[in-house]
Amino acid sequence: MAYQVTARKWRPQTFAELVGQEHVARTLQNALRQGRLAHAYLFTGTRGVGKTTTARILAKALNCERGPTADPCNECALCQAITLGNSFDVLEIDGASNRGIDEIRDLREKIRYAPARSRYKIYIIDEVHMLTEHAFNALLKTLEEPPPQVVFIFATTEPHKVPITILSRCQRFDFRKVATPTIAACLGRIAQQEGLHISPTTLHRIARRAEGSVRDAQTLFDQVIAFCGSQVQDDEVALLLGLAGEEQIPHLMAAILAREARAVLDHLSILFQQGHDARELCRQLLAYIRDMIVVKVAPHGTPAIDRSAAEVEVLQKLGAHASPEELYTLFDLLSTTEAKVRDSAQPIWVLEVALIKLASLPSLQPLETLVARLETLERKLGQTPVQPTSTSNPERPVLSEIVRERGTTLESGPVPADAGVSPARTAPPPADPAQVPSSPADPVQRIIESASTRALGWILEQHCALQLTESALEIRFHGNNRMARELLQEAETQRSLQQMAQTIVGRAIAVRIIDAPEANGQGKPSTVDNPLAGENRLPLPQTQVVRDTLELFGGRIVEIRERSVSRETTVQPLSAEDMVSEEDNDDE
Ligand SMILES: [Zn+2]
Repeated sequence: MAYQVTARKWRPQTFAELVGQEHVARTLQNALRQGRLAHAYLFTGTRGVGKTTTARILAKALNCERGPTADPCNECALCQAITLGNSFDVLEIDGASNRGIDEIRDLREKIRYAPARSRYKIYIIDEVHMLTEHAFNALLKTLEEPPPQVVFIFATTEPHKVPITILSRCQRFDFRKVATPTIAACLGRIAQQEGLHISPTTLHRIARRAEGSVRDAQTLFDQVIAFCGSQVQDDEVALLLGLAGEEQIPHLMAAILAREARAVLDHLSILFQQGHDARELCRQLLAYIRDMIVVKVAPHGTPAIDRSAAEVEVLQKLGAHASPEELYTLFDLLSTTEAKVRDSAQPIWVLEVALIKLASLPSLQPLETLVARLETLERKLGQTPVQPTSTSNPERPVLSEIVRERGTTLESGPVPADAGVSPARTAPPPADPAQVPSSPADPVQRIIESASTRALGWILEQHCALQLTESALEIRFHGNNRMARELLQEAETQRSLQQMAQTIVGRAIAVRIIDAPEANGQGKPSTVDNPLAGENRLPLPQTQVVRDTLELFGGRIVEIRERSVSRETTVQPLSAEDMVSEEDNDDE
């Protein structure tokens, strides 16, 4: 048997075989069973969703020797003639090439003759919106007084171009775009019957690329088989469909979230070497971030995500390493980039620099965490007796002002300024999404990781020894950080710790804070309420309040400037470059 393209070979021949248009099939079948037939039908919908196929099935249902029937036999001579496209009484007319008044006049002439062999004379006019105004007028006259044995089936992708006078005389059926999983399942059945080996992921990709059109999907499917043979490899298909970029997107995204600018650049170089288009890449990346946001909003699945189960899993794992705020920011910045990439004569450079910038952004904290942290800090400062700001006391920083000015831009990663810092401290997400670690089973570790704020988590990890007994969570505080101690002693903190611990261990539990300052600690004893007392003569960076601030926000002092009446301490986030340069210094 000669080769037939998939779309023809596997064209549905019954209403039951129609893909993704169950609502149309059911209505037409019911009408056929009840004998409530119209003279004119209008099938609307995008290309390749089954309009013409349904028109032929309807023609068979009307003309089948055993009909009219909701289930044409596909065996009688009349059914087979329609399948082969050589029925005398079923005429398919392409509206695009027969759009003039003459063609329609000719049609009206022939309509007057009774059907040659069948029950009905059926005119299927495809792309009916292409008819000229005169042709529509001529057609309208026929529709106003239709001969009894004539049925019109119009199909169009643009129903708004069909005159209302015609529309009002038709029974209209709107064909839907077919959902990606439905198309993938349809391709899967065909692959199975053809004895082809092709993975669900690839089927899903082909289906998604077809954007709701079964015919487009089948055409792509044919291309894939022609290229790969019966053993279809995922990477070959990705290459063929220009989807190699899509394979790389999760890796690129992981590198951005991990703030690894160098890795971002490497991934991009590979993609551009493979000939990928910067604009398309930017669009795919934007779509990916959008999907990460959607998955966060709807973790249990939503039709708004057009990806395979495996891809959704990767989206979720990657998304776990970014706050919603971070994703919103990335999306906004990349949207702006997309416009620039589109207009630029050097789109590759624009995208490269934009992504490096994204990979250098400080990781963003949810606003409420920052606000809570600022309030804590300001409360501490509020306990400090107000010192007159005067030239006689030039070393007193107006810290609350500085914090208010800079607070929202402070990076508050858990990086102590004076400690030997390694970038690993910020726990970047791994570059390979397949290796994203799962949450640890150790309940103590889980309690630390589930801390209500990052600051609390850091305090628990750095300044406390946690021990879990049958009835209590003992938190032994051994640091000398006054603010950390006070935070731990707050009733609210203890309540949240208790709730968290109970959720994690699954039983009622008490929380006990045991204060055990280090014997050789250099910090001030906790009984000293005023962190500034006795420190007036210390160099500014060594004052307790500055140290606490640096520790809480993970900053470092880059510059001390004179203000009009006092000095200003500028606290800046420790950026990725700083960490790298410090590392370099350590190596020297
Ligand atoms: Zn038949």
